[in-house]
Amino acid sequence: MLRHVLTIYIVRASGATDEVAPTLSGVINMTDAPIHLVEMTRALGQPHLDYVIIGEGNTSLRVDADSFWVKASGQQMHNIMADGFVQVWFAPILAMLDEPPGDLAAQKAVMQAAKVDPMSPRQPSVEVGFHAMLLHECGAQVIGHTHPVEVNKLLCSARAQEFASNRLFPDECVLCGPASVFMPYIDPGLPLARALREQVRRYRDTWGDAPKVILLANHGLIAVGQTPAEVLNITAMCVKAAAVFVGACAAGGPVFMSREDVLHICRRPDEIYRRQQFVER
Ligand SMILES: [Zn+2]
Repeated sequence: MLRHVLTIYIVRASGATDEVAPTLSGVINMTDAPIHLVEMTRALGQPHLDYVIIGEGNTSLRVDADSFWVKASGQQMHNIMADGFVQVWFAPILAMLDEPPGDLAAQKAVMQAAKVDPMSPRQPSVEVGFHAMLLHECGAQVIGHTHPVEVNKLLCSARAQEFASNRLFPDECVLCGPASVFMPYIDPGLPLARALREQVRRYRDTWGDAPKVILLANHGLIAVGQTPAEVLNITAMCVKAAAVFVGACAAGGPVFMSREDVLHICRRPDEIYRRQQFVER
């Protein structure tokens, strides 16, 4: 059982948050996810954004080098509560990527054993594997995975890879990086996590840095960030870029920025400063 000395919050069904005073000793048994993960997940799930519906999408947040919170299976993002997440250990999940269990039952047993609180009734999202892998491989703190309609218009089209590999305007470069990782369709779960690890490593070899955006063909978007604000910003900018791309296709075809111009924007000190401001807010 984790014990934290801090102020906790209760997220009510209405979405309002109430601060709760620490107990007399100031030590609280806290098994619920931090408020900023709950708030980010709810923000990504707002119906008017068209990022997810019903039980789509999942999110995660690093606790430390050993464990992270991940959305529990079957939870809806727009109204998720603090108890809609499960804290899991990195080690058994990452080991599962190296040596996949023989069958689904064995995989489930590993996921159960990976729970920091074995008594938690929640089960980690089926995508817990790529959350562990991305937090680990990219040195990230937060992951947001959604299925935005605007992005999936392209990811379910013949131009998906073209969208991932190119940039249309400077702020897309600033928020989403010089290119996105493109992952051809693969079965969600462990097969996706393992194949995606190879793509992420290839991206790092090419660009010398971790990706901000991962685009899963016929599936959706993953934003990789250092803060919940950055994940929200990356997702919003990728959705905008997708809408611009679709509009450009209707207007005769997209005209992409040159690789030279993309790299220039990504390396400009004033743009690096701006990017840092977006991470913090
Ligand atoms: Zn998905």
